[in-house]
Order: sequence, then C-alpha cells, then structure tokens
Amino acid sequence: MENTYDLAVIGGGINGCGIARDAAGRGLKVFLCEQDDLASGTSSAATKLIHGGLRYLEHYEFRLVREALMEREVLWGIAPHIIWPLRFVLPYHKGLRPAWILRLGLFIYDHLGGRKLLPPTKTLDLTRDEAGQPLKPGAFSKGFEYSDCWVDDSRLVVLNARDAADRGATILTRTKAVSAERGADSWSLVLADQDTGERRTIRAKVLVNAAGPWVGQVLNSTLRLNTKEKIRLVQGSHIVVKKLYDHSRCYIFQNADGRIFFAVPYEQDFTLIGTTDLDYEGDPEDVKASPEEIDYICRSASGYFAKPVTEVDIVWVYSGVRPLYDKGDGSAQEATRDYVLSLNTEGKAPLLSVFGGKLTTYRRLAESALEMLQPYFPASKAKAGWTGRAALPGGGFPREGTTALATEIAASWPFLEPEYISRLVRQYGTKAKDILKGSSSQAALGRDFGATLTEAEVTYLTSAEWARTAEDIVWRRTKLGLRLTTDQTDNLADYLSKISGPKE
Ligand SMILES: Cc1cc2nc3c(=O)[nH]c(=O)nc-3n(C[C@H](O)[C@H](O)[C@H](O)COP(=O)(O)OP(=O)(O)OC[C@H]3O[C@@H](n4cnc5c(N)ncnc54)[C@H](O)[C@@H]3O)c2cc1C
Repeated sequence: MENTYDLAVIGGGINGCGIARDAAGRGLKVFLCEQDDLASGTSSAATKLIHGGLRYLEHYEFRLVREALMEREVLWGIAPHIIWPLRFVLPYHKGLRPAWILRLGLFIYDHLGGRKLLPPTKTLDLTRDEAGQPLKPGAFSKGFEYSDCWVDDSRLVVLNARDAADRGATILTRTKAVSAERGADSWSLVLADQDTGERRTIRAKVLVNAAGPWVGQVLNSTLRLNTKEKIRLVQGSHIVVKKLYDHSRCYIFQNADGRIFFAVPYEQDFTLIGTTDLDYEGDPEDVKASPEEIDYICRSASGYFAKPVTEVDIVWVYSGVRPLYDKGDGSAQEATRDYVLSLNTEGKAPLLSVFGGKLTTYRRLAESALEMLQPYFPASKAKAGWTGRAALPGGGFPREGTTALATEIAASWPFLEPEYISRLVRQYGTKAKDILKGSSSQAALGRDFGATLTEAEVTYLTSAEWARTAEDIVWRRTKLGLRLTTDQTDNLADYLSKISGPKE
C-alpha cells in the first residue's frame, strides 16, 4: 500500500536521517518526517567536530571515545568534501591539568581508536611555533598538537537524507508527527503539514523516535506513552568572530572551571568559539544564547588570545540543546555524551527511541538501531554494515582529492572564479557538476544573489536538498549568511516565495 512503510522515523536531524539512510540501503521501505527544515534542531548547532572527545576520557567514557575515534577516518572516507582532518593545539596552562595528564590522555587518544591515516600527537614549543603567536605573550610556552576532524554538520544531515531518498525513502520536511495509534502489528502516524495545516495518516510496522531534544515531548504528548527514560537538555552556545589568526589549526583551551572550549578556523575568514554547558528547561525551539554565555565565551577566549575578544567582534551567535540521556549525573558537563537506544514493544508494534548521541557516532548509532530492529526485518541483516563503505552524495573521491576535483571543474568551467569552485567543491563534492552542468558562461548560472550564490545553486538546493526558505539556504545548506547583506537575503527570500518548493 502506498502509505504503508516498514519504518517511520520522526525527526530529520543527524540521527533520524542516519537511521533512514541505513534502513533504506538495507531494502526497507522508509518514511521520515521533520517538523521544520532538515537539521534545524541540534544538528546545525554543534561545534562541528568529528572527534573522539578528549575530555570524555576524564569521565571514563572509553566505549564512546573508542567508537567515536574509529568513526573519524570512516566518515572522512565517505564524505571527504564536508569532513576533513584538523590539527588541534592544546596549550599547557600552569595551574590547570598537569602536563603528564595531558600527555597520558593524548597517548590513550592516539592508540584507542584504530588511527591509521590521521597524524599522531606531537609536542609543541609555543615560543617558536606559529600557533604560539596569537596567544598572550609569554603565557604559554609549551603545548601539544593532535588530530581530529571537522564536519559541516547540517550538510552531513542533508546528505544522509538525500542518500536515503535516492535509495527509496520518503522524506517530508515541514511535516510534524502530531499523534499516533499503536496497533498490534503497526502504527498509524498522523502528520500535519506545517505550511497548510493539512493532515494525513501513514502506517508503519516500526516507529523510530529520533526527535533529539523533543524525544520526551514525542513520547509523552505525541505518542501518549509513559516512559522511565529521561532526557537531560543541556544548552551550548557559540560565537563567530572575524578570524583571530592565520594558520589552519584549531585550539582547545582549558578554563579554570574545569571546562574546555574550542577556537576553530571557520569558513576561511572567521573563527568559531565555544561552547557552554547549561541545563535547559524551555522548549528546544526557543533556545537562544544568553548575554551571560556570550560574556563567558568572550572572557574565556580573552584569557588565551593576545587581542581580547569582545562583543563588538561577534558576527554570528548560535545556540543548541544537547539531548543527553539522563543518568542523574552531576553537572551538565559531566552528563554522559553516549547514546541509549530504547526499544519498547509492550506486545504491540515496536517503538525505538533515541536518547543522546553525537554527530560523530550517528552512523554507528544507526547501525545499532537497525540491529535492534533486525528481528522485525530479518532480511535486512544481509546488508548490515554498508554505510561505512558507500560514499555520501558528492563523496566518492579520494580523501585528499578536493584539489584534484577543483582542477577538474576549473578545466570544464573555465569562467568560474577559483573561490567559487573551492566553495562548491567543499559543499557539494562531485555534485557541484550537477549544479554547473549545461552552463557555458557565468550568465548561464542565472541570477546572482551575492556572495557567489547563483540561481543554478538555489535551484539545485530547492530541488535536490529540500531547501525552502532563505534561512535554509544561507544558514544550513551553505553558510553564506556570514557574507550576504540583509537586503541580499531578503531578495533571496522574495525569489523563493515566488517559486514553489518541492515535495518528495
Ligand atoms: C553546543 C553543541 C555542540 C556540539 N558539538 C558536537 C561536536 O562537535 N561533535 C559531535 O559529534 N557532536 C556535537 N554535538 C552533539 C550533536 O550535535 C547532537 O548530539 C546531534 O546533533 C543530535 O542529533 P539528533 O538527530 O538526535 O537531534 P536534532 O538534530 O535536534 O534532530 C531532531 C529533529 O526532530 C525534529 N522533531 C522533533 N519533534 C518532531 C515531531 N513531532 N515531528 C517531526 N519532527 C520532529 C526536530 O525539528 C529536529 O530537527 C553538539 C551539540 C551541541 C548542542
């Protein structure tokens, strides 16, 4: 039946889209609904690291750290356009964690997770290394440098959704799951189109609640179930400032309160700094960085950089809510970052709920979810483990092949500016050619919205990546919001309101 699925997923963040992709590739008939835009929840508000989480070693989260470390090279391999290695500089700070602890932590970090391609840790003399230059003079003479990776978080979500759809999944954005009836063998899920209010019902053998910070709301209000699992919402905010230094490495700094924070080179001309850890009680949709958080981040960064970071330097602020599994741990920063999958059957159609999870571990989380659901779909076992071998859309070229891809594109489209090519390659990988195909001049790419955004790219984003609004395009599919003026974004919004968005 047209409206009957094997698996229905609530939530188009990284975990929902990762599960949808894995399931679709195993031959299941998959449905996913997202109440807003893909990655509009927590999955676009991260520090954007594919990392083992050095800090989690202090909380003895060895399972999580090992799994996350192992994922770095796997994810880099399947999406080398949006994921790449970063070297992290960790200055030794007198009076905080002793150097031997840092060395031991990094030794474990280097050896716990099957690192093959990423370079190992080394010691730095910050009085000579250029990484010492932007820091307070004379304050930090020694440091360490180690590897993790960078990811474009919201694009990782969209590429998983795209791949799931290419493998047959139905993905509906701006579609909220509003209620459900649970039968012995299937769920009836009632959906509301957020634009028109129109309602429709689909059926599915298994329901997956991947609503991130809304997981509890979906359990209690949408599904009207009582559950013993609890979610702990922990807010984290970031600021983006004009770039603070010229080299390409990232800093991991320690604060006197025991927390660590990052300063990451961002979108060529900026530095991303964060984050905070604060228990959060409101609706996840309303999360907003508070003046106190912004002040905390500025003060923390100013404790390290020679030039103080102040509010006037800020060009963008964003905030998100971590949906952590609540084990009743102490402070927000101590709450586990590991995930818990909870399968509820009660003799009726199964419900799998996702609690917690990092961007870094989304693929393994999806594998574990599908493994738990295998009894309901025995044939799906044959394709287990496929997601780490198959490229995400636009991937499928060697890990360090972005320069070669840019050269290939420049040869076929010689009229393009090099900066535009490198942005297209970093965002779309080989799919950049789909945007450019058939165009023999800059004019053929259509209207210029500013900051290199062309009508051809907008058309691609609305037709292949579920983009509907200017915000979808300038903050989630691209980060051109950092460069476009308000008038330019308004013009884009006008243009989008005149063309109708696609629905799959
Ligand atoms: C400050 C911060 C920094 C982080 N940094 C990192 C990092 O550097 N590296 C890393 O690996 N991880 C990081 N994380 C963790 C990571 O971002 C999250 O764990 C992950 O994005 C959670 O994804 P999710 O799919 O579970 O939730 P979400 O991305 O929030 O997705 C859930 C989706 O469900 C939708 N939804 C809810 N209810 C309904 C409904 N009724 N119907 C339809 N749709 C619904 C929501 O709109 C939402 O889009 C960070 C998190 C934060 C907050």
